This record gives sequence, structure tokens and C-alpha cells, in this order.
Amino acid sequence: MTETILERCAARGLRMTGPRRVIARVLQESADHPDVEELHARATAIDPRISLATVYRTVKLFDEEGILDRVEFGDGRARYEDAERAHHDHLIDLTTGRVIEFVDPEIEALQERIAARLGYRLKGHRLELYGVPLKKR
Ligand SMILES: [Zn+2]
Repeated sequence: MTETILERCAARGLRMTGPRRVIARVLQESADHPDVEELHARATAIDPRISLATVYRTVKLFDEEGILDRVEFGDGRARYEDAERAHHDHLIDLTTGRVIEFVDPEIEALQERIAARLGYRLKGHRLELYGVPLKKR
């Protein structure tokens, strides 16, 4: 069973202040890829006293501790997701900014073959596809 973000913070001995707990909970409940501003909006809905600077520092700490994965979707803004989520890649809709998650066994296998051909065992990868819808809705 995957531990919650809060449990992983505790396991790493991080001091969990009230704001950090709220931010951990917000991240735990987020199924998307919020940036710091969005996380701040969600955190202040629970506790209005949480500052943007606190969210920045907390997210940086969680990222350094390997609790979060930092992702970027071509607009230069850092977004975050739970590092313990199952591996997946992202397709970004350039017209709406919508992010679609996918896993493709062929891509996974292909990347392993490429790494092996270059003399490496693959430990991870990151793939972002950028597209526009084929058909107008
Ligand atoms: Zn994702």
C-alpha cells in the first residue's frame, strides 16, 4: 500500500507545522498537476493564513525530499504531483492547456530498448506530448 504524503513526511522526520499539514493534504487530494499559485488557492480555502511564500518553501522541501515530482508543460511554470503515483506520461492540449495522462507499453518498451542499445539500464523517463485536437467539437 502506498503511504500518504503525510506519512512519508513523518517517515523522513520532517517537522510538520500546521501549514505543512494543510499543504500535504491538498497535494494528497489533488489528482491534477497544480502549480504553486493553484496550491496556494486550495490551501487558503482550508486555512486563509497560509502565505504564498510558505507554499513555495514547502513544495521545494517536498520536491527535494522526493515526495513530489516537479513537472513542466512547456509554459515554464513548475507543477507538482505526488511522486508515488504510478508512472505515466502526459499529453498537453495546446488549445486548452488540458493535461491528459497516459501509459503506453510500446513506448515504455521502446525506451528501454534505446537505453539498452546505448549501454544503459533505464531507471526512469519523462515524456510530454504537445498537441491540438484533430477535430473541432
Ligand atoms: Zn501526471
